[in-house]
Amino acid sequence: MKVYMFHYVKPYSNYYHFDLDEFDKTVQKLTTNKHIISLKELDNLVKKHQAIPEDAVMLTFDDGTIDHYQYVYPILKKYHCSGLFFIPSCTYNKKMLDIQVIHQLLENNPIETLFNDLRKQLEKKHMEPEEFSVEENLDSKKTALFKQLLQYKLPNDIRINLLHYFQRKYKINKDVSNSYMSIRNLKQMKKDGMYFGVHTITHPRLALQSKEEQAQEVKSNLESLLKSHLLDKECISLAFPYGSYNEDTIDVMKNLNIKYGFKVDDKESNNDEGGVVLIDRLDCNILREVLK
Ligand SMILES: [Zn+2]
Repeated sequence: MKVYMFHYVKPYSNYYHFDLDEFDKTVQKLTTNKHIISLKELDNLVKKHQAIPEDAVMLTFDDGTIDHYQYVYPILKKYHCSGLFFIPSCTYNKKMLDIQVIHQLLENNPIETLFNDLRKQLEKKHMEPEEFSVEENLDSKKTALFKQLLQYKLPNDIRINLLHYFQRKYKINKDVSNSYMSIRNLKQMKKDGMYFGVHTITHPRLALQSKEEQAQEVKSNLESLLKSHLLDKECISLAFPYGSYNEDTIDVMKNLNIKYGFKVDDKESNNDEGGVVLIDRLDCNILREVLK
C-alpha cells in the first residue's frame, strides 16, 4: 500500500500547492490503475489480519484548509472514492496555525526579504539564523531555515513574538473564517464517505513536548471531533504534525484508543507497535513523477 500526504490543492501550483487539474487527473488515473481505499477498508483488512493489497493507495489531506472542501472533496466524490482528512482544532477555535502564517508569508514575499528581516530581528537578540542547524528538505537553505526557526527552533517566546511581528508587518490576513473547513462542511463530507482524523490543537512537534502536553494536544482535538460525530470510533487515526512523534505519543494513543498513527516518511512500510499501527506517508509531489 502507498499512502500519500497532501496539503493545499488549488487552481494554481507552486511548491506548496498541488494543482487542481493535476489532482483531478491523478485521482482519475489512480481509480483506473490502482485501488483507492478508505480508512474503513484498511481497518477491516487489519482487523482480519489480511494482507493489504499491493495496489492499494490511500489519499490523506492535512490541516483542514478550505480548499479541501472546495476542490478535493468534489473530485473524490466525482470518482466515488474516499479521502482521509486530518483536522486540527483551528476549525473549532478559529485560530490560524503557525504553519499557515509561515506559508502565507512565503507565498507573498521573496525569501530574501523575509530572511534579511529575520536576521535583523535576531540581531537585536544577539542571535543569528546560521547558529541553528537546519533539517534538509526540498526547500532552499534559506527557506528551510526561515520555516524551521519560526516553526520550532527558536525559543518559544522569541518565536511567537517574531511570528506576530511578521504577521503585522507583512499584513497576513488574520481572519481565518474563510481559511478552514467548518463543522458543517465536514459533516457534509462525512455523508459522502470521507473520513477524518486527529491532528492536535496547535500543530506542535509532539516529540519536543512533555507527555502531558502531548496528551492535552491530542485529547482535546479528539474530543471535539468525537462531539461533532466526525470519527468512526472503531478506527480513530492521528497524523503527527511534521511527522514528529516518540514513545510518549504511542502511549498517549493507546490511552485514547487511537489505532492508527500516520507519519511523514518516504517509505512504504507499516508496523504494529503493540496495538497502534504506524503508517508511513509519501509526499504528494512524488505522485507527479509516478504518473508521468
Ligand atoms: Zn499538519
